[in-house]
Amino acid sequence: MQLYTKILLGLILGTLVGFIANVAGITWLQNLLIALEPIGTAFIRVITMIVIPLVVASLMVGTASLGDLAKLGRIGGKTVAYYMCTTAVAVTIGLLVSNLAKPGSRIDVTTRDALSAQFEGQAEGAMVLAEEAPSVVQTLLSIIPRNPVEAAANLDLLPLIFFTIIFAAAVSVIAPNRRDAVITFFEGVNDASMVVIDWIMKTAPYAVFALIAAVVARFGLDLLQSLLMYSATVVAGLLLHLMFTYGIAVRFLAKLSFPQFLRRIAKAPLVAFSTSSSNATLPVTMETAEEELGISKPVSSFVLPLGATLNMDGTALYQAVAVMFIAQIYGIDITVGQQLIVVLTATLASIGAAGVPSAGIITLIIVLNAVGLGQHVQAGIALILGVDRILDMIRTSVNVTGDLAAAAVVARSEGEELGFASRKESSVAVGG
Ligand code: ASP
Repeated sequence: MQLYTKILLGLILGTLVGFIANVAGITWLQNLLIALEPIGTAFIRVITMIVIPLVVASLMVGTASLGDLAKLGRIGGKTVAYYMCTTAVAVTIGLLVSNLAKPGSRIDVTTRDALSAQFEGQAEGAMVLAEEAPSVVQTLLSIIPRNPVEAAANLDLLPLIFFTIIFAAAVSVIAPNRRDAVITFFEGVNDASMVVIDWIMKTAPYAVFALIAAVVARFGLDLLQSLLMYSATVVAGLLLHLMFTYGIAVRFLAKLSFPQFLRRIAKAPLVAFSTSSSNATLPVTMETAEEELGISKPVSSFVLPLGATLNMDGTALYQAVAVMFIAQIYGIDITVGQQLIVVLTATLASIGAAGVPSAGIITLIIVLNAVGLGQHVQAGIALILGVDRILDMIRTSVNVTGDLAAAAVVARSEGEELGFASRKESSVAVGG
């Protein structure tokens, strides 16, 4: 059985068991499932553990062996432009579906206030976090690390990428014998990281079961009912973006069959779904790009870590729906001009969001303020917080799928021959 089938099975079983425990009110089973959650948390920790060695080694090998910095600049330009475009399309789709479905006009005032009151405390916490958000200049400056080790220790990928690229560029111009020694060393680190990922992924089906079962067992199903229209609008938008935007990009820009692409990459979005974190999924995303799609290291090592931090189409789309939902529920009309502000700010806010669980709800506060919904921010956030975990899982899967589609598009534009044949044997020679 393929790994992704096993992970899917873990996901379905976990959902089922969690659902039964929840609906039937079987307290002991609910408690048991919640007690099993640390198995999933251990998986997230162990896979996150490999992010730094993998990103550094892979970027080092990718950049230094490229030996052509102009090419790197070109790949970088294309990647960022592509990311911005697809994110803006995602926000537009989010706005379109919420204008059509009007999810906020179907909730009565009593339900609205009851939901807001229930999550008031948590919403306050998010507000405090958003207030601590740095300014644009500060954000740009923080891309340059004062200390790369500190950046690595904090899992701050952007400054680490910045440092590694400069360092690798320097490696590419030193004496060939020294350069080769450095590259060979990092090739070894990269291969070993890949082996560790393979080991970790063997436990993925069980971890996924534990993670999802606990979420579903704990989840307030009545919440889902009152926020059903809102959740359905987010999911419909995400599906549209997946099928339409990525479908077109993969078919016409990367020139790959889209259904096959989805089947090949399935384990990455499945892990993203279970962990709600693009960062934690990054090792799986990188392995998938190289082994399942045959994308070269210079492209995958650059496009994917950048994508995990910058490219969040799912998050941006969800923010657009959330803004419209909150406005509709409070009877506030959002003009076309304001919707354009949503496109701009949600695109930027999703760039600013870290690839960790619930990051999107914090940067949503920025978008709400930008469109003049300031006075409803806290109550509005409280309103949608109850279903955020579930929506986070879905949008994170879309984020990761978007990163992989981007990697395929950029690789193809660089003239790479992509294929669905496994490259595993050539990239990792265990004991050979
Ligand atoms: N959890 C998302 C991610 O890691 C970010 C978010 O939308 O909250 O990609």
